[in-house]
Amino acid sequence: MEQSKETINSIPINGKVSNCDENIDHNSTDDVLLDVDIGDPIMYYPYWKSVDEECSVTIKASAFLSYFVNLNKDEFFYHVPGFTDAIRRIHRVVGNAVTEGRYIIAGTGSSQLFNYLLLALSNTVTSGTTNKRVPVVCAAPYYGLFAASVETEKSSMYEWRGDTRTFDDKEGPYIEVVTSPNNPDGLWRKPMVNREGGMLIHDLAYYWPQYVPITGPADYDIMLFTMSKFTGHAGSRIGWVIVKDKELASALMNQSFLRTIGCCQEGQLRAKTILNFIADSYEKTPIPKVMPTTTTENLFEFGYRVMSDRWEMMKAAVKQNNLFNLLEYPDQHCNFFGKFHLPNPAFAWLESKTGEDASELMREHKIQARKGAMFGSSLHTKCVRITMVGSDDQFRLLIQRLSSPPSSVHLDEVPSISKVDINGN
Ligand code: PMP
Repeated sequence: MEQSKETINSIPINGKVSNCDENIDHNSTDDVLLDVDIGDPIMYYPYWKSVDEECSVTIKASAFLSYFVNLNKDEFFYHVPGFTDAIRRIHRVVGNAVTEGRYIIAGTGSSQLFNYLLLALSNTVTSGTTNKRVPVVCAAPYYGLFAASVETEKSSMYEWRGDTRTFDDKEGPYIEVVTSPNNPDGLWRKPMVNREGGMLIHDLAYYWPQYVPITGPADYDIMLFTMSKFTGHAGSRIGWVIVKDKELASALMNQSFLRTIGCCQEGQLRAKTILNFIADSYEKTPIPKVMPTTTTENLFEFGYRVMSDRWEMMKAAVKQNNLFNLLEYPDQHCNFFGKFHLPNPAFAWLESKTGEDASELMREHKIQARKGAMFGSSLHTKCVRITMVGSDDQFRLLIQRLSSPPSSVHLDEVPSISKVDINGN
């Protein structure tokens, strides 16, 4: 099937097609690689489609002409009224982060805020005292875009130093990124370096009930969140950081002003509407004691159901295939759902049983997964990451291929059905 010129990431931008899987041609995918490399959160499409009428945003042509929204208020000048209230509200409803007495700053995805944080934090320790760049570290396996964005920037203030295990500076400031649950392996992370001079950035992009039991409100100095993996609205490019320190908050706002003169107001308005819609669905109707039927479920029940079904299928396929090991996760009590449940990470992190390069084994099943070596350490070449948050059709095909014997197709000759060729997520 020929791809329409009007499609991006499989979703037609003219809005006429009602099913985002429609541009996968089910008859012609047998001889092409299935791309499960990128964590594009298309799995949320059926849920949002079902509430299109109740949760949409109309923006008049006359809206948002000014750079400034809040010149005379305590709020930062570019925050749309009610945006930070909606964020505080959703964290209160879910119970996954403390926001009282904290500053919230919006960004173009949490990716942008990550870069602003590095500059603001390194500025607090390098001004006038030393020429040494502040090391930025993270325990491998880690999300590859952290490293890529720092390396691309070639900052004179900070530098990417990779895996915490190989970081041996005995003194001096450093920045450690702690991602919990972690991308790619879904594990709960704690800081690894633990010495004086450390500044911690906690990335909590996946700390939502569909992915992991909510065990309590996170209460760290610096916490990053994003719409992308929480609601699936990655394209709106809205993330936020919650910080305790007022000076850091001002420095971040300053960055936002100097680099991009604020953050897209349309995106904030959409985020506010969506977050309030989710919060309303819980505050106006209490969380059901029994999991609801598909017609009455709210976002977290939908996400949890889809993710746990997919994980069951993934475990069964891996067992049948017998070439890979999957990590096992303990169950924990989830305060939000009021019951014990297993984590359902957004990615499956598989290791080849024989120690071979797992991505090559995947290619033999006509599956293109992300190579373990892209997550910060050569120790992980026998691992591979597969997205669990793609479309239903993509996931069905994945399970079918993983459960079948390796193919005899000549893989050097087959094209990929990749949606977009980028190295993020
Ligand atoms: N942190 C982690 C751990 C991620 O996995 C991602 C997205 N894949 C991001 C940050 C970036 O999120 P955003 O879309 O908000 O830039």
